[in-house]
Amino acid sequence: MSRARIHCNECDSKATVTSTNKISKLVTHLYCQCTNVYCGHTFRLSQSFDHTISPPAGKHEQLVLGLLQDLPSDKRKEIINQLVT
Ligand SMILES: [Zn+2]
Repeated sequence: MSRARIHCNECDSKATVTSTNKISKLVTHLYCQCTNVYCGHTFRLSQSFDHTISPPAGKHEQLVLGLLQDLPSDKRKEIINQLVT
């Protein structure tokens, strides 16, 4: 897995993260500094969770149970019967 590269939005040189501040479970602020000595721009980025692409291990069962519980009971029984046979 590659690490995300950060570039300065002023000069497009590589920037480094100097510190982070976790705002919530879903949002972190990244404090960055441009590595171009002639620029020296310091800035803050926001990193935020967007959406799940594939649920983590152990969550599949909860998702399936949640979906089944939301169905009307006749549809739920129909699906369970299809799985058993
Ligand atoms: Zn820069």
